[in-house]
Amino acid sequence: MDFIDDWPWTNIFKKCEKMKSPMAVQNIISSSEKMQKVVSLCKRRGFIYPSSEVYGGLNSCYDYGPLGYELKNNLKQNWMNWMTREHESIEPLDTSILMHPKIWEASGHVANFTDPLVDCKTCKARFRADQLDTAACGQRPSKHPNECGGELTEPRLFNLMFKTFMGPVEEGSSVVYLRPETAQGIYVNFLNVMTTSRQKLPFGIAQIGKAFRNEITPGNFTFRTREFEQMEMQYFVKPGTDMESFEYWKERRMQWHYSIGLTKERLRYHQHSAKELAHYAKAAFDIQYEFPFGWQEIEGIHHRSDFDLKQHEQFSGKKLQVFDEASKSSFVPYIIETSVGCDRVLLTLLVDAYDEEASTGGGAEEEGPRVVLRFAPHLAPMKIAILPLMKKEGLPERADKIYQALKKRYRIYYDESGSIGKRYRRADEAGVPFALTVDMEPGSVTIRQRDSMKQDRVSETELESYFEKAFQL
Ligand code: ATP
Repeated sequence: MDFIDDWPWTNIFKKCEKMKSPMAVQNIISSSEKMQKVVSLCKRRGFIYPSSEVYGGLNSCYDYGPLGYELKNNLKQNWMNWMTREHESIEPLDTSILMHPKIWEASGHVANFTDPLVDCKTCKARFRADQLDTAACGQRPSKHPNECGGELTEPRLFNLMFKTFMGPVEEGSSVVYLRPETAQGIYVNFLNVMTTSRQKLPFGIAQIGKAFRNEITPGNFTFRTREFEQMEMQYFVKPGTDMESFEYWKERRMQWHYSIGLTKERLRYHQHSAKELAHYAKAAFDIQYEFPFGWQEIEGIHHRSDFDLKQHEQFSGKKLQVFDEASKSSFVPYIIETSVGCDRVLLTLLVDAYDEEASTGGGAEEEGPRVVLRFAPHLAPMKIAILPLMKKEGLPERADKIYQALKKRYRIYYDESGSIGKRYRRADEAGVPFALTVDMEPGSVTIRQRDSMKQDRVSETELESYFEKAFQL
């Protein structure tokens, strides 16, 4: 069992523990270096920790620390609000992780949710047979599979679903699966939601939840893990209107990625070729992001035809159809799916936001480059840093009064120790968009903007309206 995580990020985590300040570098950050820096920052500042760290870690499992939790929460809320408030035809849903095992027979996961697996007979490393070209062997110095002369086994199919048992007896009849995707919970509830929320076609159902895949080669930090969260929306449409809806959602989803602040030039579509398309799918596009390790999928937009509902009709014996008043007949709707990984987008946000600059002013008196996470303000885990200039002359009391007023509305980062330069640096690294300094000037404070480092003097009585405007931009 590969419980222990011996892959490179663990070493980076260990190294970063010894680091007092980020590695000294100039403006240009090489790709692999950038990834290492992001991983190091995640541990140092409490975004992401390796799971079960005191036991040496658990391969490909991660825990979100205080800042990571806030960022993830903001991301999930943003996605669900965007889905259900900007599109009135979309309803939210939260289904169970464990579902009737027949669901996975109907969906095709029991028979087909497999990857081809090969083992190296020499070092016992395991690879996906369809990804041998890009796979690296964990042995040092790292080689490609086969390069060491070690013979590979014949490929065998490996089902990616995690199995467990329901009830006290571990026997075949009580096997249940940890869901490998959240979509099936939506399909089997589609009539429930449609009738209880009085929706008519076209309408959608959005769900955020955990999914589990026993990936053969997880990796690239949280990019591919065995436990992850998905944010999926399934849109039910009348056949004939399906391609129009597919085009709409393809465009709309890209707009969402822009709206969370991702760099436009690093986003693109990848259309599935006939070879890549699932046999039932009419069309599919991925939205890809250019990570330091290459262009990779972050979201899939799939035209799933009526495959899923028809399969569930057949396996459950229940009709999953909609009555059409015009033709006085029933039909099975088509489904357009948008499926995005929450953890994967969170990693994308971190990579995209990470920046280093040899700055002047606003904390530049500190040594080394300024490390800054340039999150879009509405997603930033902490919104405002409050920094009393000194711990005397009534400044902490004034700062506390401001803190008490603002904390009702914003997640506040309060920091009163160390030089003001160091405190700006800490806030920049956590991605806090605004730093408010309470100084000797009575009745007003300075507000420093994270990205431009521009400083405004703002009257204490106008703080609420200042931030209201700032966070609307
Ligand atoms: P990939 O080709 O990367 O394995 P996929 O095509 O199997 O992904 P889907 O089944 O379409 O992915 O899942 C939708 C989304 O869920 C993906 O775009 C990705 O963001 C996320 N996702 C899928 N597998 C994982 C994983 N193992 N770890 C983290 N996120 C994942």
